[in-house]
Amino acid sequence: MPTPTGVAVDSTPASHPRRSSGELFNPAQCFEPSPACPPACLEFGSPPVFISSVFPGALPRTLTPPSGSHGPALILGYHRGNVLCDACLTTTYFKYNEGFYRQKHGCAMGSPVSPIVANLYMEEVERKALGSFKGRVPSHWYRYVDDTWVKIKTQEVESFTAHINAVDKNIKLTREDTKDNCLPFLDCAVHIEENGNLNIEVYRKSTHTDQYLLFDSHHPLEHKLGVIRTQHHLAEHVPSKPEGKKKEHTHVKEALKTCGYPKWAFLKSAKRHRKEDQTPAREDKKDRRNNIVIPYVAGVSEKLRRVFSKHDIPVYFRPSNTLRQKLVHPKDKTPKHKLNNVVYAVQCSEECPDLYIGETKQPLHKRMAQHRRATSTGQDSAVHLHLKDKGHSFEDANVHILDREDRWFERGVKEAIYVHCERPSLNRGEGLRHQLSAIYNPVLRSLPRRLKAH
Ligand SMILES: [Zn+2]
Repeated sequence: MPTPTGVAVDSTPASHPRRSSGELFNPAQCFEPSPACPPACLEFGSPPVFISSVFPGALPRTLTPPSGSHGPALILGYHRGNVLCDACLTTTYFKYNEGFYRQKHGCAMGSPVSPIVANLYMEEVERKALGSFKGRVPSHWYRYVDDTWVKIKTQEVESFTAHINAVDKNIKLTREDTKDNCLPFLDCAVHIEENGNLNIEVYRKSTHTDQYLLFDSHHPLEHKLGVIRTQHHLAEHVPSKPEGKKKEHTHVKEALKTCGYPKWAFLKSAKRHRKEDQTPAREDKKDRRNNIVIPYVAGVSEKLRRVFSKHDIPVYFRPSNTLRQKLVHPKDKTPKHKLNNVVYAVQCSEECPDLYIGETKQPLHKRMAQHRRATSTGQDSAVHLHLKDKGHSFEDANVHILDREDRWFERGVKEAIYVHCERPSLNRGEGLRHQLSAIYNPVLRSLPRRLKAH
């Protein structure tokens, strides 16, 4: 009798950009250059799917309304919903290395429709594969996104792998077999015991270093307590046996201790967790006022939260300096002179100490051109008057970008803050869009000047 064997299949759908193994940015293989693409296409941030060509008819069929359903699609009508969905999936372009490209396969990373389409696509591939397999089909088939847990007769493993890989030329599946009766699946290490029972434990890759958010890092306390809570949650819910849970709790405690977590943090996290369990009414309270999210600055942010909480306004903290911000730059960098929505400082060259700070939504080089010429209304800019009176000139290279801000009001506030801090000699008091209240003076005085003193 052949024995059943566990097989984990890692599928890589065409509609999932992760599959591309380097293809995504290999225009020669994956993308058609499209020089005629209108500039408006740049608005679509990330590359889309070209699903209807790969998978004709799939979307209309899957979006057919089940009888009696009440979903958002009813507002649009199913036909229009399909047309819109198709447009989202087929008409976006992206720019890479000064060239425009259209993605031929795969969903856009980060697009809200991508997970749904990827799932629909995978379901279709599975349906075809399982429906047309001549041998004995797997008795278990559990998929989460692109990882599938399969139980199949040993002698069918090779033929089924070959079969499912032949269903769709864009979907290539890799297989991982049980090793010492153990198979990792998602976050779980699943041990198949001799009696056929499954013993589940937390799975960590061999490269895992137990490095968690360090306790002395500049983050809100609640984020650190959150680390403790999620790790304990895993320890409590993933292992299937009591001894597994105990082992995992001990492991987590040791790992977090190494990251500097003190005893009181564990107690506080447990206490807060219990408290949250007992107060279900908190949700209603939250809905009454809008949340506000502020950058986290140790010492200041907590005080602000106390002030706001007196008025029933929940405050959440956002770390302002993330690795993602530092490392991930999916788009080409805009050259300085083309940057728009900026607060800038014009520092006159030729050792002239005069300085002007302004803001603009236009590209910087256009704004600088305006500063250099007289206006037809006779209301010349302070910079123009200075250049004219003193016979000076300045280079665009000597213009500093102090800040970027897309929002009109916020940009005005930032301009006012920089003017307050740097005290530029050419700014006339009435030029500011936003007047800062004197209440901010003590804080602003403590800020360092970014430009050299004049
Ligand atoms: Zn000057």
